[in-house]
Amino acid sequence: MTEPLTWYHATATAPERPRLIGDRTCDVCVIGGGLAGVSTALHCTERGLDTMLLEAETIGYGASGRNGGQVLQSLSADVSVVERQVGKDGARTFFNMAREAVDDMKDRVARHAPDADLRFGYLHATLNERQLEEMRGVCEAWHAWGYTGPKIIQGSDVREWIGSDRYTGAMVDPESGQIHPLRYLYGLARAAETAGATLFEHSLVRDVEGTVVRTAGGAVTAKHVVYCGNAYLGPLQPKLRSKIMPVASFIAVTEPLSEDLAAKLFPQDVAVADCNVALDYFRLTDDRRLLFGAGASYSAITPPGLERWMRGKIGRVFPDLSDVRIDHLWGGLIGITLNRVPDIGRTAPDVFHAQGFSGQGVVLTGLAGKIIAEAITGDDSRLKLFEKIRHLPFPGGPLKTPALVAGMTWAKLRDWIGV
Ligand SMILES: Cc1cc2nc3c(=O)[nH]c(=O)nc-3n(C[C@H](O)[C@H](O)[C@H](O)COP(=O)(O)OP(=O)(O)OC[C@H]3O[C@@H](n4cnc5c(N)ncnc54)[C@H](O)[C@@H]3O)c2cc1C
Repeated sequence: MTEPLTWYHATATAPERPRLIGDRTCDVCVIGGGLAGVSTALHCTERGLDTMLLEAETIGYGASGRNGGQVLQSLSADVSVVERQVGKDGARTFFNMAREAVDDMKDRVARHAPDADLRFGYLHATLNERQLEEMRGVCEAWHAWGYTGPKIIQGSDVREWIGSDRYTGAMVDPESGQIHPLRYLYGLARAAETAGATLFEHSLVRDVEGTVVRTAGGAVTAKHVVYCGNAYLGPLQPKLRSKIMPVASFIAVTEPLSEDLAAKLFPQDVAVADCNVALDYFRLTDDRRLLFGAGASYSAITPPGLERWMRGKIGRVFPDLSDVRIDHLWGGLIGITLNRVPDIGRTAPDVFHAQGFSGQGVVLTGLAGKIIAEAITGDDSRLKLFEKIRHLPFPGGPLKTPALVAGMTWAKLRDWIGV
């Protein structure tokens, strides 16, 4: 028996799906079976479009089946970055769209994936004064936009939320949270198929010419093509590839914790991420394991001694867990854009893409699928908003990673020395 890819794969079940054999025609051909691709297929099918999806491996093989399961109702980009590109009103529209995406997710979970363990309550935890000030700024901006749920806590109050002495403060966000992302994805895939979509697995797309999409076993001639391969897309579309950097992040899942210990470490059962650039993010699973993520590695190389490294990370947050058994350990690739705003748009009138969710795709992929389906069925007003955001290529593409590493090293150093 082969090891499951992740704890998620060990705790979710999906049917086997066929590979593409022979020639087909359809309205929409989606490349990639992660949350973005499956959401796009579902939204398109619900709008009456004959939709096919081609996944190189199995549904959820990429980041969507490997992530931290943190449900974040915002973009990864700084408010100021979005404002600079689309103005104050535009930035507010983006914020509202991200909130809409959480509401859509709640609805999808209730209808298609009630087993996905969606829970709310979130801490953006700070490690120093600078980060706490930044969180205050975010909190004020959100309040000004009408979302008054978040609040700042500091000092001994932090202990009421998390059983760790590591944090100086936090922004508590009641409308972000956590989910089992693979059960969610499998639910969306089932719903897409029930609505009439056809999902193929083990069907690597090798070549796209116009809107003709070819695998080793067949070809799909479509009216529209949607690229959703994100950080796993490889060399298929170099222009898209140049706009995102694949960054590795790693997750450890421990043995189940006792009820007492779990309640001590997570008194309010919230998901947590710190505010470092190479951040720690963690939460408690429904079977009371600590799911702890750390990274990111901008060199995209797995650190030597990964288990020891992760144990060290866990021990710094929760000294009680320094010797805890780690049952699952894996890595995955996050697609980040230079400005951290997702890259959702088109490269030709009938060729669309969604990528670069910059570590916050669990929620935003649903929005991407909806907006692309809207555009294909005649309303591209929201897609145009995303297309207003300029996505510069990473200079020289992945070959210039050392420049990025140097930049990130400075950012990490700043986090480390706490300025
Ligand atoms: C370790 C880790 C932790 C993360 N934590 C969080 C988190 O806590 N919260 C959050 O919001 N986000 C998180 N993210 C990011 C989030 O997982 C992604 O933004 C999201 O899953 C992206 O979905 P996607 O569908 O765009 O890409 P993916 O899920 O990567 O799917 C792309 C799919 O395309 C397929 N594919 C690629 N090329 C081809 C081809 N040529 N032919 C056919 N198929 C192809 C791949 O096999 C893959 O299955 C994390 C990511 C990682 C890796």
